[in-house]
Amino acid sequence: MEQITVNLNNRQSLVVVGECLDNLQKYFKGRSAYIITDRNLDGYYRKRFPDCPVYVVEPGEKSKTLEVVGDICRWLLEQGADRGSFITGIGGGVVCDLTGFVAATYMRGVKFGFVATSLLAMVDAAIGGKNGVNLDGYKNIIGTFTQPEFVICDVDMLLSLPENEFINGMAEVIKHTLIKDNKGFAHIEQYNDRILARDRNEMVSLVSHSARIKAGIVEMDELEHGERRKLNLGHTWGHALEKVTGLPHGESVAIGIAFSANLSVKKGLMKEEERKRLLGLLRGYGLPAENPSVPSDVLNALIKDKKREGGSIHFILMRGIGDTVIEPIDVNELEKFALDGV
Ligand SMILES: [Zn+2]
Repeated sequence: MEQITVNLNNRQSLVVVGECLDNLQKYFKGRSAYIITDRNLDGYYRKRFPDCPVYVVEPGEKSKTLEVVGDICRWLLEQGADRGSFITGIGGGVVCDLTGFVAATYMRGVKFGFVATSLLAMVDAAIGGKNGVNLDGYKNIIGTFTQPEFVICDVDMLLSLPENEFINGMAEVIKHTLIKDNKGFAHIEQYNDRILARDRNEMVSLVSHSARIKAGIVEMDELEHGERRKLNLGHTWGHALEKVTGLPHGESVAIGIAFSANLSVKKGLMKEEERKRLLGLLRGYGLPAENPSVPSDVLNALIKDKKREGGSIHFILMRGIGDTVIEPIDVNELEKFALDGV
């Protein structure tokens, strides 16, 4: 078992990798607890949940709305939950985002924790305290920064994850190594087969390593004024692409990472052989690296995106594998590059 403590001013958040869902009860510390999960996980794992009230949402992004938040809060009120209660989200990114937001706002805030069930949630969504819901098709427009008390990563749960979901989580793992971990990149490049087989020891080390990178960045810049923006590597282009094509998040991010690598080479920051190495790694994990749709659609979605600041968009570029830099790119330059590749 690996433990990572995320230290933020006077607060702490504990990530426990290799812990088992069956031990969840002890983290409640005698408080009256409420669980939020989705229908799939409820069907699969309900028998192993601690004995407490459970609210079940529909799986998927469509549950990330203010209406669902309202329904959950109404339910908590009916159940008699108060400020001393404890809320636990058991699920992937959607359940973590929803639970964190409900807990941060219900009665002005109650303590909460997560059991992250997907690779994406373990290394990304559950860590760092960002939560929120969507509004009118815009992602995470309403939300807060509030840290969970704990994040349990039961890596055995990864075995029941569909193949494509696991691969999608790998996009975020790869992203973390690209930001600041050259050695980690070489490791996932070398042990591709063991990782894809979801070997238990490999999963404990992969998840804890990746969660540690994210935790370290969050400790430096919790509210995303500087360093934390590096976690958006591949996401500027990726989010726009996701919106236009409906591709899964991880695949969109992989294409976004490749786009960022192309731009980095074009700007003379990254060497061509490193770009090739990166594209090879993405493909080795079954992740795409080429744009499937007309770039002008993606470009239009991007320009409307909230990240636009004046006449330029902040992109996370790479000076090499494990070395990232935040660069403002002029919208006209971006347009030319995206459409003509120059
Ligand atoms: Zn992401």
